[in-house]
Amino acid sequence: MSTLVAMAKQARHKKSGEDAEASGWDVAPGEALRVGTGFDVHDVDRGATPGWSRGRKDAERLLAAHADELSDLQERLFAEGRSGGSRSVLLVLQGMDTAGKGGIVRHVVGLVDPQGVQHRSFGVPTAEERAQHYLWRIRKALPDPGHIGVFDRSHYEDVLVVRVNELVPPEEWEPRYDEINAFEQEITDAGTTVVKVALLVSHDEQKARLTKRLERPDKFWKYKPADVDERAKWPAYQEAYQAMLDRTSTSTAPWHAIPADNKWFARLAVSELLLDVLRGLDLGWPEADFDVEAEKRRLAES
Ligand code: ADP
Repeated sequence: MSTLVAMAKQARHKKSGEDAEASGWDVAPGEALRVGTGFDVHDVDRGATPGWSRGRKDAERLLAAHADELSDLQERLFAEGRSGGSRSVLLVLQGMDTAGKGGIVRHVVGLVDPQGVQHRSFGVPTAEERAQHYLWRIRKALPDPGHIGVFDRSHYEDVLVVRVNELVPPEEWEPRYDEINAFEQEITDAGTTVVKVALLVSHDEQKARLTKRLERPDKFWKYKPADVDERAKWPAYQEAYQAMLDRTSTSTAPWHAIPADNKWFARLAVSELLLDVLRGLDLGWPEADFDVEAEKRRLAES
């Protein structure tokens, strides 16, 4: 590496460290949560708050303090899309039942204008979907230019639930990791920044959350007896998550592993990751495609 490149790298690193400190993070969330080589899902303390040592109140304050910027950047992205731009962002949320995907959608994605958000959740494939390649329904749901797409579950179910329950033989799911990497490279090249978030809840916390659903009539609708069947396969799911994180955390579309026993932390972490990505797009405002002064005159005379 040339000295110049090394110096630039160092300066960038220092800057992101300073930015992190200024906003309350000890380590920038992109760095603290990113899945790299040697990552082991079994070692993740699901109650931890990597990169953040300030506690809940400060986390909630920061989430609120950054809401305006998040919303402003989303509006710029939307405006760019309206003006012929091709860029978009795709937030991929994966997690075991009760991990808090819905809460992220409400509390983080909910901070921006809904008209700029395209939310899709992926359940058991329909008969029509089953007749197609597994990426067929995913491609159809990709965000339009200028939008933030949110996948509540995603193509990764095809190497998670499908692998654990042997819904297709290994020869069929095994090549999917590479295929998914190629797919994400393709959509990235076309202008979509992919932000992948694995919400990691603990076995005990999942039980507590499921128990709550059974104790409160206003939560019955969220409870499905089948959730307990999947819970019984916890070790197999952790293995499937490990394989997914090992094989599909690429430099193009890295995974972020987010301990999710503290909902306040998961929400802060995802909002900061999203904010980071939007800041990185360096979004301006589109130029007027009309003569502003002439329009002012016309309007004044009208
Ligand atoms: P959630 O549990 O996310 O609130 P649902 O109750 O609709 O939403 O559950 C979706 C279910 O669909 C999950 O159990 C998930 O594993 C399953 N699912 C999603 N994608 C697939 C797939 N490709 N093949 C089989 N099952 C899938």
